[in-house]
Amino acid sequence: MSIAENLHKIKSSLPKSVKLVAVTKTQPIEKLLEVYAAGHKIFGENKVQEMLDKYELLPQDIEWHLIGHLQSNKVKFIAPFVSLIHSVDSLKILQEINKQAQTNNRIIECLLQIYIAEEETKFGFDFNETEQLLHSEELKLLKNIKIVGLMGMATNTSDQDQIRKEFQSLNTFFKKLQSSYSSIQTLSMGMSSDYTIAIENGSTLIRVGSSIFGDRN
Ligand SMILES: *Cc1c(COP(=O)(O)O)cnc(C)c1O
Repeated sequence: MSIAENLHKIKSSLPKSVKLVAVTKTQPIEKLLEVYAAGHKIFGENKVQEMLDKYELLPQDIEWHLIGHLQSNKVKFIAPFVSLIHSVDSLKILQEINKQAQTNNRIIECLLQIYIAEEETKFGFDFNETEQLLHSEELKLLKNIKIVGLMGMATNTSDQDQIRKEFQSLNTFFKKLQSSYSSIQTLSMGMSSDYTIAIENGSTLIRVGSSIFGDRN
């Protein structure tokens, strides 16, 4: 099937409450334009330089989401235009995002990346750290960022029960936070291999690449 057909098939299967980020990393501009021409305007990239290059070549009404680990020295490049940063994993990076948002006279929406996988190398906060951060005085000082939700990645495994357990635990935590923080609205979970399970467990934003574009080289 074509990119437009893949996109349509996925979008038409989603509940109304779930939005799609088309993950465009490693894909050439022509393919991004195919997605755009099919009417989809929310794109996700995991690297700052690649996002910048594509941002400059593509129409201005695209919403750009950063989904990969962000380094402090790169924040200034995306601060003028980024719509949502999914991958906030430290107070330090939040402080830098706040500073660059202030310079650009805007408020940047962020998700806190939560560590739910049984893997050593993943970035993110655990549940305790997240609650401490949300309560902290340091966070109250940051007027140019808004934490609008959480992001998580399940373990890269074929064990569906484990994936379900991980998404369930993040959803339970998300709901708990929602009862105290009215700004927490978005739960970014699910990629090509596991977005159906993610949606069954409360995801409001899925990040899908290969099911739209085919396998990355
Ligand atoms: C690459 C990537 C995705 C999309 O992965 P697919 O398996 O191609 O759907 C989603 N989230 C993050 C953080 C990624 O880096």
